[in-house]
Amino acid sequence: MDEDTSEGVAREDRGSADVDGRSRDDGRSRDDGIPRTDGGTERADEPTDDVALDPWGSASVGDYADLFEEFGIEAFDDVADDVPHPHYLMRRGVIFGHREYDAVAEAMANDEPFAALSGFMPTGDPHIGHKLVFDELIWHQRQGGDVFGLIADLEAHSARGMSWPEIDEHARSYLLSLLALGFDAEDGELYRQSDNREVQDLGFELGSKANFSEFEAIYGFDGETNVSHMQSVVTQTADILYPQLVDEPKPTVIPVGPDQDPHVRLTRDLATRVRYFKVTEAFASFELDDDERQLVRAAYDALAGEPTDANTDVRCTDAAEWLAEYDAPSGLGDAKATALDKLEAGGKEPLRPRVRFFDRNATDEAFEALIEAIDGEKRVFEGHVDAFDLSREAAESVARGVEIDHDGYGFRQPSSIYHRFMTGLTGGKMSSSIPASHISLLDDPEDGYDKVRSATTGGRDTAEKQRELGGEADDCPVYELYAYLLAADDDELTKEVYSECVNGERLCGGCKEQAAELMREFLEDHQEKREEAEELLDDLDIDLDSDRRGTGGEH
Ligand code: SF4
Repeated sequence: MDEDTSEGVAREDRGSADVDGRSRDDGRSRDDGIPRTDGGTERADEPTDDVALDPWGSASVGDYADLFEEFGIEAFDDVADDVPHPHYLMRRGVIFGHREYDAVAEAMANDEPFAALSGFMPTGDPHIGHKLVFDELIWHQRQGGDVFGLIADLEAHSARGMSWPEIDEHARSYLLSLLALGFDAEDGELYRQSDNREVQDLGFELGSKANFSEFEAIYGFDGETNVSHMQSVVTQTADILYPQLVDEPKPTVIPVGPDQDPHVRLTRDLATRVRYFKVTEAFASFELDDDERQLVRAAYDALAGEPTDANTDVRCTDAAEWLAEYDAPSGLGDAKATALDKLEAGGKEPLRPRVRFFDRNATDEAFEALIEAIDGEKRVFEGHVDAFDLSREAAESVARGVEIDHDGYGFRQPSSIYHRFMTGLTGGKMSSSIPASHISLLDDPEDGYDKVRSATTGGRDTAEKQRELGGEADDCPVYELYAYLLAADDDELTKEVYSECVNGERLCGGCKEQAAELMREFLEDHQEKREEAEELLDDLDIDLDSDRRGTGGEH
């Protein structure tokens, strides 16, 4: 949740959302009986935003399903079954999307190292939207991950113009809530961007692989954007890779709202741009792109099994002949034409599967060391090495090992998970500028109670109609409160509320009363725990009384 400061900045990747073509089943297709929540995106009476993902703009999404197509975010349901003990936000479809979370789920399942990190801009009081992310971090910590929470103070100062005293105060409050909810600060690490020299240094390095045109395209930055705002972006990419810097490269998940996806995409890119070597698979001296490789592999697999004469080599010309007759899957038509050209140009050269190491940023010593480290048959060329007896995976690990031994980072691309934004209690989106639309973790428990009691619902106009038609739990901010927060780990409660509602057995008055009481209890309990956390916080080595000067910027 954020203030709506979106000025409609032009974005190369701004999509055109189809306002009416919204699917009703995105993320809710799993057959486990747990009702999926949709973040209120299916309200017919809501204006639908387009699907631009803007980290400093309006944090609302018209249709989550669009994010899969437009940006290549993957549906969380596809990995959910691989997560050993999924969190309730995962079970209920609140976490709806991911990038490469499989790597993290696998590490978790195999007891291998993994990390989680997220950051918070200290622009106001922590609210129930932040609690989602706090909970996600804490859960990953309890699953055995190395977990990091950071205060994005440089971003708040440079992009939002927050003063340092305000930042100090809010930072303190975020950290108290994170601790109160169960973050173990002995086990994990909490920091503020401005105090983390390693993050600054890493950001500096990463920044040398990015340029302004790219920032323009990704974030809509222009000639008016202040330079420190840009620096805060570079800092965030460093935050995201920091868990792999302080320890070793490992799968790392960044739990965030989808508005942060541009940062994740950029960081995934930078993580590879700083690598010493790029590992690809090849079949001959020439290069293939992914599509072409798929076709050449098909040709090779078909022919390698049936040697034609005493000479068992499959030659480029043989593969070209085979491919010419091959009915390529749709979408690979262009690749077929270019692969054919390459194979024909290859002539009599035999096809032999191999992994290829490109020298991207390696020093001479590192390149030499790589050659040494490759077992089995290899051929060394200017700028690359081909290895014939290594799997792709083994090759990746050799490359990473050499890189790390020679002062490189060896980063893996970070993973991410995305949660739905909550609908405001007053309908529409939850916004910190409309107090009644959201609940702050600092709200007086009685105010929290009142806000829930006065919330908009998915109920019918009269009790009679409600009994007859049932309520619309899918479009109800109160139902969302149960699913996102109030029911906590109790799936039975969410199922009960949902089915009683849609079957007309539940009326909104009582339903809200129950939710309001749960909210009051939650706030009472949380605020008590915040007080207890004061001492924990004071024992941590975090400076919450910064002596920085300056007034910051806003654009
Ligand atoms: Fe929402 Fe509860 Fe009313 Fe159903 S009964 S519409 S869940 S408030």
